[in-house]
Amino acid sequence: MYTSSHKEWAMSIEGVYDRLAYHGESEFLSIQIADTIRRLPPPAASFTLDRCCFVSVGSVTAGLILPGRIGVHHIEKRSRNMWIIVLKEDLPAEHVHSIIAHEIAHAWLQHDRLSDTMPEDCEIAAANLVKQWGFSGRGADADFCNR
Ligand SMILES: [Zn+2]
Repeated sequence: MYTSSHKEWAMSIEGVYDRLAYHGESEFLSIQIADTIRRLPPPAASFTLDRCCFVSVGSVTAGLILPGRIGVHHIEKRSRNMWIIVLKEDLPAEHVHSIIAHEIAHAWLQHDRLSDTMPEDCEIAAANLVKQWGFSGRGADADFCNR
């Protein structure tokens, strides 16, 4: 568990952008994703940069296509244990970090929504983890997420 000490830790913004896999068109969202990753405890930040890629769809476009290779790690060429995190581009500014962290938490907790082994309390577990990581807002609010 990471308490106050992790807040002093922050990966450089360049370090995050070098490794961040974001496939979308929103500069706002790419900045928010990078900021969220920098606020995560180090193991969760590394996990996110190594195992997650981010996709977003906004109101500018009705849809988009992406090649299946986005789910393959760009350096290690591995697709096992990779997570594709899909985000809305117009997330409310006051909640955007906690919502992004919430989706990262689902990946961290291996909540595979296509499997039949999703724990019933997955929303509560994800929200509580986000809170433990030091975020506040909708994504860290177990009551809100479990409605
Ligand atoms: Zn959730």
